[in-house]
Amino acid sequence: MTDLTALSLIEAATALRTGDLSSTELTKACLDRIHALDSRIHAFLALTPDLALKQSEAADQRLAQWRREGGDPLPLTVGIPIAVKDVLCLEDIPTTCGSRILEGFLPPYTATSVERLIRAGAVVLGKTNTDEFAMGSSTENSAFGPTHNPWDLSRVPGGSSGGSAAAVASHMCYAALGTDTGGSVRQPASFCNATGIKTSYGRVSRYGLIAYGSSLDTVGALARSSADLLPIFTAIAGHDPLDSTAMTDPVPKIILDDTDLRGLRIGVPREYFIEGMQPEVEAAIKEAVRVFESLGAKTRDISLPHTDLALPVYYIIAPAEASANLARYDAVRYGPRLESIKLSEQYFTTRGALFGQEVKRRIMLGTYALSSGYYDAYYGQAQKVRTLIKGDFQAAFEEVDLIACPVAPTTAFRIGEHGDDPLSMYLEDVFTLPANLAGVPGIAFPVGFDSNRLPIGMQLNAPHLGEEALFGAAHAYQGITSWHKEHPLL
Ligand code: GLN
Repeated sequence: MTDLTALSLIEAATALRTGDLSSTELTKACLDRIHALDSRIHAFLALTPDLALKQSEAADQRLAQWRREGGDPLPLTVGIPIAVKDVLCLEDIPTTCGSRILEGFLPPYTATSVERLIRAGAVVLGKTNTDEFAMGSSTENSAFGPTHNPWDLSRVPGGSSGGSAAAVASHMCYAALGTDTGGSVRQPASFCNATGIKTSYGRVSRYGLIAYGSSLDTVGALARSSADLLPIFTAIAGHDPLDSTAMTDPVPKIILDDTDLRGLRIGVPREYFIEGMQPEVEAAIKEAVRVFESLGAKTRDISLPHTDLALPVYYIIAPAEASANLARYDAVRYGPRLESIKLSEQYFTTRGALFGQEVKRRIMLGTYALSSGYYDAYYGQAQKVRTLIKGDFQAAFEEVDLIACPVAPTTAFRIGEHGDDPLSMYLEDVFTLPANLAGVPGIAFPVGFDSNRLPIGMQLNAPHLGEEALFGAAHAYQGITSWHKEHPLL
């Protein structure tokens, strides 16, 4: 029998339409694979098999009716098993953000992005592991233990959407939702050989996404190719009255058929090739740029002059916003409580015991940066520099349509490698943070392997709301390369 989990999302959707396969079969195949592999990978924090089987039965009925009666084409997501990062609320299903402080929390509602996928017929297999409150680049900051990279179990899958990336790469699901505040979709996609979209700020509703850095947070997704990813984006994108920052602009109907990129102008920013980056990463990116040239694109050197300021600016703004967002975990409204006679003591002991190291570090940094007397010097100043970084992108997009660059300076590192050195971990984010500060979209996709057979990812950025060009360019690349088809032997 063929392994159903080896099918691409598009292949699975095609077989569902002809009736050669049922959603229930796909769902059971995914659940079996999770049971076989996840004790070694730990991609999931919670499984929802009952919900999944109920949803797959409903999808099978929807498909059967469509085959009998015809009608409008069904979304490609109907009957497709997916996973959801555990920072997105799903009604009555444990949602922890990888934190002890939310252990036992059952959200009373479902995030818009998840709700839309469910309405588009997707089947939810479970919630995936994440760095605590999405703070991290390796999924090691999860209070429930790290996720392992399916390509090398001694290494990290990237983060913070490491559970989603590992689940996609090990074929436990056909696609997964992730979130990207500073790189958390693109970097794990790169480390695990997945294709991941970081959407434009405001393109996808944040309603029901547990907030980290509200001016940076975006919902995105990971899958095995640009073509597989597109139906997920189509399902989740678009205005939502429940999120005042969700753009009202219409979402284009994206069709992927053109493999010709003639006329496309791609800029390669010189600031993204820095000392200390892994030479194999640099070589693979430069080779991928040549592939784009062979597809007809015109490439050229460009400059994003404030790139080196993105890291310090991000690590002021993100912790500042996080410190405000996380104030709500007060030992009264959510999760467990370490009882105390005095209310203030209860607040401090619960937060002290149940938040992890990295979260507490960022709350302290952020609170300091926002405190009176320091606000102008830190947060205010950081916002000004953020405007310069945004201006870099605006100026570049006057001259080019897309920007091509690496996702991360290295391939997947070993679990524990960055140990107690948060700064060295923050350096992993240098190439992904600028897009979040500017609010522009990015896609990460496989462009090769290093000598340890660890995946290397390339990133393309587009102007705000320019996702269509990203899907198109990545799809064209994947039409003449096969890196994205490689998968780990488990
Ligand atoms: N690694 C970055 C951080 O730790 C980005 C995380 C994210 O995108 N959620 O903040």
